[in-house]
Order: sequence, then C-alpha cells, then structure tokens
Amino acid sequence: MHAMKQPAQQFLHFASNLLLPAQCPSCHELVHRAGLCSACWAHLKRITPPACWQCGRGFDFDAGVSRCGKCLTTPPDFDRGAAALRYTAMSKRLILGLKYGGRHDTTPALAQMMASCGNILLQQADWIVPLPLHWTRHWRRGYNQSAELARAVMRVAGIAKAYYRPDLLLRIKRTENQGHKTRAQRFENMRGAFRTHDPAAHIKGAKILVIDDVLTTGASLSSAARCLKRAGAKEVAILVAARVG
Ligand SMILES: [Zn+2]
Ligand SMILES: [Zn+2]
Repeated sequence: MHAMKQPAQQFLHFASNLLLPAQCPSCHELVHRAGLCSACWAHLKRITPPACWQCGRGFDFDAGVSRCGKCLTTPPDFDRGAAALRYTAMSKRLILGLKYGGRHDTTPALAQMMASCGNILLQQADWIVPLPLHWTRHWRRGYNQSAELARAVMRVAGIAKAYYRPDLLLRIKRTENQGHKTRAQRFENMRGAFRTHDPAAHIKGAKILVIDDVLTTGASLSSAARCLKRAGAKEVAILVAARVG
C-alpha cells in the first residue's frame, strides 16, 4: 500500500514545494531550506558523549563510567543503544507531529541527528529493523513512524536498502496506550508483544539494530530485543530519535 501511495505523495510534495515556501515543521515559521528554523534548532537538547552505551542516556557530567545506574542494576534486554535527543517540549512536538500528524518533513532533520549519534551501530548492524506497530494501528495510521525514520537514517548514513528488514519482527499483541502506566506495568504490558519471522534463519548469529522514535522506559524495545535474542540474535542494539530522562 505504501509503495503505491508514494509516487503520488512525492508529486504532491514536489508541487507544493514549487507553490509554497518551506515552513519550519515545529513552529511553521518560513524557512529558506526545508527543515527546522534556527530558533527551533537551538531549543533541541542533543545527547552528546558522555552517554550510557547501553541505553543512550546522556550523562550530566563525565564520571568515567560507561553505563548508567539503571543499566547496571536492571539492565534492559538490548546490549547497546544511542539516542539523538533528550525528550523535551521541542523534541516531543517534532515526534508527535511525525507520529500523529503525518508531518514527514520532520523526518530528515531527525534522521540526520540519529545517523550521527548512531553511526557505529548502523555500520556494524547485519540487519536494521524498525520497531513494528500492530497491524491494526499501522492500518489506522497509514504508516509506521519508526519505519519512516529507519529508512531516512539509512539514506543519510549511506547504508544499502538490502540491510533494511522490517519483515524480521512482528507485533502480535495490541497494547493500549502506555502513557498512564507505571514502569512495572509497561514492562508487564509488553510481555510477549513481539514474534520473529525468520524463514531463512537470518536472525541467528546476527547483529540487529532496532530503530524507534522514543524510548520512555525501554519496555517495548527491551521486549523486542528479548524476542530477537530468543531467536538467536548475537547482539541487539537500539537507536531512537529521543529518550526520556
Ligand atoms: Zn521553528
Ligand atoms: Zn543506561
């Protein structure tokens, strides 16, 4: 369905670019080139080293440790991770626009930042997998924002399309909105949410990079990583646009 829609969408995008000047996807200010305006750029909180190598959490100061306290005491099921931004009002606006507003003009800016902080993970991955939505949600939304991000990140990082494998992981459980749930409830809710699909044993022994938009508690990504590891993945890394905390 997506492949059929794309040429028409691309044409509309091209036509609207000829007719209308570009707007900042966050504040709708007119900009010379597509992407965020300089004021909005300045409000984003990029995560730069030092950061936890397992979950991507940015450290406020360099204490000479490689993992954060949470990963040391209750490690997630993924082995490594990177996040481009802290989840602030500004990054939230960008991501909610991508998720619910169909604002795909935010994707290139987010992809650029993700490709830069996740460069090593991207280069080392055998397969790159977007965190899947349950098909009912995918159908309602018309797209998966994580897949949009994954494809854009791969383009920026110059990674061949053959590494993109949205088919390896399926979401089999329809989970309600996690927004109001506690950390423990989120982990419980995500139990058994994914299933692998691997007819040619592509997962066994592979290094897999899972891409998603936001990491809140890490419950979804951890559940996906556990599922991939059970299917024999050697290493699971994650790359997200923004993370809470
Ligand atoms: Zn702006
Ligand atoms: Zn951590």
